Amino acid sequence: MKVNKNKYIVAVDGPAGSGKSSVCRRVAIEMGAKYIDSGAIYRAITWYFMDKHGDDLLTENIIDQLNNVNIEQIFEKNGDIKTLLNNKDVSKAIREEKIAEKISFFSDNMEIRDYVTSLLRKWSKENFIIMDGRDIGTVVFPNADLKVYLDASVDVRTERRVKEYAELGKKVDENSIRNQIIKRDFNDENREFGPLKKSNDSVYLDTSNMSFNDVIEKIIELIKSNK
Ligand code: C5P
Repeated sequence: MKVNKNKYIVAVDGPAGSGKSSVCRRVAIEMGAKYIDSGAIYRAITWYFMDKHGDDLLTENIIDQLNNVNIEQIFEKNGDIKTLLNNKDVSKAIREEKIAEKISFFSDNMEIRDYVTSLLRKWSKENFIIMDGRDIGTVVFPNADLKVYLDASVDVRTERRVKEYAELGKKVDENSIRNQIIKRDFNDENREFGPLKKSNDSVYLDTSNMSFNDVIEKIIELIKSNK
């Protein structure tokens, strides 16, 4: 470990299904860091508005509406992550396919992005933070100590998502998942505010042909070599 600083932030960005969440959770456990899942906040906000207004997606007075919302995230010692919205555990509900289908409506909104960015910064009081998302190294923590961009081919990411749904007991249509990934990549990369992009100072890892353990080892090695 080179520099003995108190605060250390790892920003992990990448497209849907690139493995960010499972990788970050494991690295956080092994290194004793706090993991924050930024996508879960966008999901929780989407869940809130869909629950309240159905398909009638409202953008009016968004901040006033968000004032009624209290979002919390608990990173458990075993690596589980719980998302609470007004004290209700929405961790499972936010993983539904219908949330992913509508999420870009909310995650493209500048007011919502500003709200989430301040929430993420407020949550990052601990000394050692690992956070994943789309704009963590570019917008939320542009001065992060380590930036990683995790990527994988569309096929591999589709396979991973289908497997994730299967583990939740859900049978989904592979083609519709693939199309959803392609559509989400397009939205995430092309939105006006906080688009997904690889910054020049991030370490690019294509995990298509890497095992889960290889990715973990690589990231731990990167942290150890520059912490
Ligand atoms: O990471 P996850 O797939 O749960 O993220 C869900 C969606 O939330 C992404 O497709 C993206 O639209 C949005 N998101 C974002 N910025 C982040 C994290 C997620 O716009 N930092």
